[in-house]
Amino acid sequence: MLERGWTIFRIRGIPVRLHITLLLFLPYAAFVASAQFRAIARAVGLDLGEIRLPLIAWGAILAVGLFVSILLHELAHCAVALQNGVGVRSITLMMLGGVSRMEKDVRPDREAWMAFAGPLSSFGIAVACYGLSLVPFPDEVRVALLVLAMVNGVLGIFNLLPAFPMDGGRVLRGLLTGPLGPDRATRVASTVGKVMAVGFGLYGLVTFNVILVFIAAFVYMGAAGERNRVEVRHVLEGMPVTQVMTDRLGEASVDERAGEVARRLLRNNLVGALVVDGLPHDDYDLHEHVVGVVTAYDLARPGIHDEAVTVGSAMRKDMPRVHTQDDAATTLDALTSGGADAVIVLDNQEHVVGVVTPADLQRAMMLVGAAGGNGPAARRS
Ligand SMILES: [Zn+2]
Repeated sequence: MLERGWTIFRIRGIPVRLHITLLLFLPYAAFVASAQFRAIARAVGLDLGEIRLPLIAWGAILAVGLFVSILLHELAHCAVALQNGVGVRSITLMMLGGVSRMEKDVRPDREAWMAFAGPLSSFGIAVACYGLSLVPFPDEVRVALLVLAMVNGVLGIFNLLPAFPMDGGRVLRGLLTGPLGPDRATRVASTVGKVMAVGFGLYGLVTFNVILVFIAAFVYMGAAGERNRVEVRHVLEGMPVTQVMTDRLGEASVDERAGEVARRLLRNNLVGALVVDGLPHDDYDLHEHVVGVVTAYDLARPGIHDEAVTVGSAMRKDMPRVHTQDDAATTLDALTSGGADAVIVLDNQEHVVGVVTPADLQRAMMLVGAAGGNGPAARRS
């Protein structure tokens, strides 16, 4: 769902996307911001009859200002991630704020700092706006700056609540990782997150605050999902990729019809196919002609059954890739951070030898459970 959105621009190669929910939310944000503008104008004794722009125009400007503030908050997280050698896949601005997708987790001892950088930038913006509001600009501009200062202050404080996976919860996990270790730290942080989410939800229901109820649901699911992910990751650490991948791959020619390839995969019980260009001939080295990999997930996308769709256009060219000697946990990182359905596995000669899909990881997890272990001890056997 997060992948859906329009890339509006790139900062140092990182795509910044607008999620559709944001566009639906902007008019509401503008409405709320114009009410805040009115309240602050009254508080400072500004006569609303004297302002040059209509109130709703100020609301719209402030709503855009809010999302620029959220973007700066996300960029602060990303800057710390990049400093720690973790790539950023995308930043998505959506209804309930921003989401930065990192390529992998930062080192647990750096997580607290990375999480804190966002709220810190919000506080920085709040102080800067407050400072600017003291400059003798026209009164209505100063009121708008005060509103932005207030909104950013609230944003910083709200994000610091220890409701994992919000920033404060990540700070908490980062701080607990030292004394408790990463697994227990995640468990404690996600339990605190769930409790806070229930609190938000109840408070939102009592006060008819729909946004707060949404946030509660988001926090609750996020806390549960992150805990699950960390547990799975823990099991996969130290397991070779070759133990979880599947090599049941067939072949398909770029301009073959996608529906035809789907039928062949089904008939031969294959999970995907290497897509090759050109026709096989003598001394044909298959691996030199591989232009991509197509999986059942790609072939199941809507519109693929159209007669005209070829495998070449159905396949994904940007599938994440790992090597046979890599740790199985890296495939989980690639699947969760990239929003991909499959990871390609390459051997030392950069030849595709298999794929890992979420179903493969699920199967590995079940077998680990059935083998009677879920920790490093079980992996040794
Ligand atoms: Zn944040």
